[in-house]
Amino acid sequence: MKITRIAAYQVDLPLHEGSYKWSGGKSVDVFDSTVVRVETDEGVVGHGEVCPLGPFYLPSYAAGVRAGIAELAPDLIGEDPTQIRKLVGRMDALLKGHAYVKSAVDIACWDILGQVSGLPVCTLLGGRYGDDFVLYRAISQESPEAMASRVAGYRAEGYRRFQLKVGADPETDIARIHAVAAQLEQGDRLIADANTGWLMHDAMRVVQGVRDVDVYIEQPCLSYEECLSIRRHTDHPFVLDESVDGMPILLRGHSDGAMDVVNIKISKFGGLTKAAQARDLCVSLGIAMTIEDSWGGDIVTAAIAHLAHSTPTQYLFTATDFNSYVTRSIAEGAPQRNNGRLKASSRSGLGIEPMFDVLGKPVLDIS
Ligand code: MG
Repeated sequence: MKITRIAAYQVDLPLHEGSYKWSGGKSVDVFDSTVVRVETDEGVVGHGEVCPLGPFYLPSYAAGVRAGIAELAPDLIGEDPTQIRKLVGRMDALLKGHAYVKSAVDIACWDILGQVSGLPVCTLLGGRYGDDFVLYRAISQESPEAMASRVAGYRAEGYRRFQLKVGADPETDIARIHAVAAQLEQGDRLIADANTGWLMHDAMRVVQGVRDVDVYIEQPCLSYEECLSIRRHTDHPFVLDESVDGMPILLRGHSDGAMDVVNIKISKFGGLTKAAQARDLCVSLGIAMTIEDSWGGDIVTAAIAHLAHSTPTQYLFTATDFNSYVTRSIAEGAPQRNNGRLKASSRSGLGIEPMFDVLGKPVLDIS
């Protein structure tokens, strides 16, 4: 089988809540997502999606996705999309770094392999664990009272894991964590995600200020070394996210005892192939995971669902259903949250069909 055409579509994904705010005053109102379509000489077609969390979160941006795919695509025509490892190696040889650029192409190839084999992607990634899996709800950064007031509504949607966006001034963040913790019920989990926003002295004050609270601390500071320093000064369960983007840092983190949970975002690793490699390594090392992406719509949510559902249940700390955060559907058959939980499609491939009336004409079309 050979790739004959690669097309990319740009789609805006507005948010139900109007905007999403996190550390350092960062905010996004409308997410700029890219859907990639990979066509083959045998008529099988696969789709992927990638959506950076604005241009100022990870070293990625929406226009960079399209520029990178324009760079890669001409050299991928004629490659076999079912030999995914080989194709990923080809992409790495053609374009050094820029993992996020390769993510949607990689996902589309898994969609193709699933259709060719007649199996859902989660089966190809190792098997389906349980009927469904647990989701978290991110709570956008607002005043402590406003964030606390969100919990009841999200719990009514079935969520029992709440990830607070902190990473601002320590006094307010301590108040945010206490205010939301006061809303929790038996069985709920609370994560305070600073998204790299604290300096070490800020982070030290926060972890000491919430010493009595059952809360996970996620990526308090910018660098791995700063986070490790905080980790060594706190008893709270500890999550690393932004600073873990590949196998070497994952192995180093394990060796240093730097984290209890790792956040695996598919595009941060460069697609399902490498995210699944990281996932399998975490399972072997006994590290739990949050499985998600840097944002996205229906197709990213489908990819998350297949990776999360193929993760042994006790290792899956939580996952994300981004398609319920946004107002626009872009694919039929995408997984839909049910009582705070999600399941991967049982159809072959990703199990989705893009809505081209929503996506419009391709912004990039290479054959
Ligand atoms: Mg995070």
